[in-house]
Amino acid sequence: MRDLSKDNRFLSINTATVREQGTLAQIIDGIARAGIPGISPWRDQLQACGVAEGARLIRAHGLSVTGYCRGGWFTSGGAAGLAAALDDNRRAVDEAAAIGAPCLVMVVGGLASQSRDLPGARSLVRDGLAALLPHARAAGVTLAIEPLHPMYAADRACVNTLSQANDLCDALGAGVGIALDVYHTWWDPDLERQIARAGKDRIVAFHICDWLATTRDLLADRGMMGDGVIDLPRIRAAVEGAGYDGFCEVEILSKLDWWRRPLAEVLETCVARYRTVC
Ligand code: ZN
Repeated sequence: MRDLSKDNRFLSINTATVREQGTLAQIIDGIARAGIPGISPWRDQLQACGVAEGARLIRAHGLSVTGYCRGGWFTSGGAAGLAAALDDNRRAVDEAAAIGAPCLVMVVGGLASQSRDLPGARSLVRDGLAALLPHARAAGVTLAIEPLHPMYAADRACVNTLSQANDLCDALGAGVGIALDVYHTWWDPDLERQIARAGKDRIVAFHICDWLATTRDLLADRGMMGDGVIDLPRIRAAVEGAGYDGFCEVEILSKLDWWRRPLAEVLETCVARYRTVC
């Protein structure tokens, strides 16, 4: 297992972590000033900046892009809405390629409005990924399926376990991978086995934060590493044991705490916790 305590070589910041603290340009500047080498931008922040300008700023600051958040949402309009979702996803793939992102993180979508058809939503996700795949392969961008915690099955993602994501990878072949986020997967009794099954080739992003035992908001009360109950070294050992040697990407949606603190303080804390508790 890698020693993270000496330097920030494998640290990346997902820009959602500091989304309330500034524009993408300010966030890029802050990340570079904090001596952090990696960044993973969110789509709304990049679009507000302009894709070409964002790409230029990231390059000018010497940052490595570890992912682009996010594509997916195949199911919101039901089967009839899939074509529009695919068009939007192709644009997201192009934006990911423009900033040099190795993968587009896929939050696949939950149930369509008024629907109770969870198996149907899951098969629509598989169809959507299959239809998007040729465009992603041509662009050299891996579609990184991110299993989300089951509490989001209705409204965000009906892929909820690493096992499901592995099954999709088995079915779809090259060009599809997995974004493994400890927040969504830490509870899974099958986690270690499924990490080993995914292996080095499939795990294309590793997202870290913490699970606060008394969560106050289902979406945006994620904890700083070390403030919650996730055994981060245990999961990282499994991921690295499977061969993963990429970045640890800090992704903390925290409207009640970290989004209220100054940019530099949040980034300094990310560095300190990454070095000591991850
Ligand atoms: Zn994530």
